[in-house]
Amino acid sequence: MHSLNATHDPQRRSWVASANAADTDFPIQNLPYGRFRRAGEARWHLGVALGDQVLDLAAAHVAGLPVHASLAGYDLADFMALDPRLHHQTRVTLSEALTEGSAWAPTLAACLLPQSEAAMGLPCTIRGYTDFFTGIHHAREAGRLFRPDDPLTPNYKHVPIAYHGRTSSIVPSGTPVRRPQGQFSSDGVTAAFGPSQRLDYELEVGVFVGRGNALGEPVPIAQAGEHWFGLVLLNDWSARDVQRWEAQPLGPFLAKNFATSISPWVVTREALAPFRLAAPARADGDPLPLPYLHDAADAQAGGIDLTLEVWLQTPQMTQAERLMQSHFRDAAYWTVAQMVAHHTSNGCNLQVGDLLGTGTQSGPASGQGGCLLELTAGGARPLPLSNGEQRRFLEDGDRVVLRGYCEGAGARRIGFGDCEGRVLPARS
Ligand code: CA
Repeated sequence: MHSLNATHDPQRRSWVASANAADTDFPIQNLPYGRFRRAGEARWHLGVALGDQVLDLAAAHVAGLPVHASLAGYDLADFMALDPRLHHQTRVTLSEALTEGSAWAPTLAACLLPQSEAAMGLPCTIRGYTDFFTGIHHAREAGRLFRPDDPLTPNYKHVPIAYHGRTSSIVPSGTPVRRPQGQFSSDGVTAAFGPSQRLDYELEVGVFVGRGNALGEPVPIAQAGEHWFGLVLLNDWSARDVQRWEAQPLGPFLAKNFATSISPWVVTREALAPFRLAAPARADGDPLPLPYLHDAADAQAGGIDLTLEVWLQTPQMTQAERLMQSHFRDAAYWTVAQMVAHHTSNGCNLQVGDLLGTGTQSGPASGQGGCLLELTAGGARPLPLSNGEQRRFLEDGDRVVLRGYCEGAGARRIGFGDCEGRVLPARS
């Protein structure tokens, strides 16, 4: 767990004016990493978001800023794999050089470009993708649609449930998502093939693995914090009609692997330090986590106070409107450290650049569903929109935007930037 230090000081201001705006996602206290290129440029660069600008780290390195040489490369994984102490050192270097009054200002000003001129890619080569099911309110509500009397499966409070996803269709925010075709059944007996009629989003948090573990060597939960690098927002696009038909008995396949969108900026574990809090308390009667999933420090500070939102813009709207808001701190039954410890508990080796999805993060109240499946009770109750339209599931041209931010007393608000995608019509 990171302690707070001068890089978190809410009074610290940058010589980059837009980083001091009250509503920016990227003040100097955040410093998230991403990968970008300029229009017409083939080579990727790594960068840090600051206000409405990007600091080109390759250019900063050439200009003499003493950041780790891996940041002059083109794949963030080379940096993510390093000892967390080097991540901390780099954060201190960047923070000091970007602080108001720094002698680096004139040099680094030449290494900035507006975010509007940067095409963002995935931050690194993603080698493995696993999607968990830690959102207990989502698990309960989605389960209720299928098992009204017993919505949570008996294993839920014992084991952090997950399945292996697919990396090739993970896309950066802004990439359009084509409505998939698939096989489904309207009567549970006969099958048809065609464009999904029940296309949905899922509001999730993505965890990037930093240092991996050797095959056969589990990561003890007390060390799991050293193995995750940072967080992004993740939209696990889902075709509910395909999912319902194909998922028995092996789980999701084509209903989920046609697209997964992530926000482009990786908010580091250290940037999140001011927003750590106790892991969600277990209700009376809930089983205690088994010893390999329990750590006193994780119970005390394994939670993250992160507000999550879904926004929707239909083709008739001029701007997106907010559909819901939830909080990671009370939506997730399992912590990030528990996800890492469980994933490796059988000796499975996580690798740098692996992405772990948390599962849909719905809040406890009605209206806090993290997907349309929940907000519309499986399509039975259409969701009214402010302009008189309604939605059961996504329609062509709909634009879904996930947003996330952390705020709290004594800390500067930091955000994740948008995770956005527009639905294209199915291929005819
Ligand atoms: Ca999911």
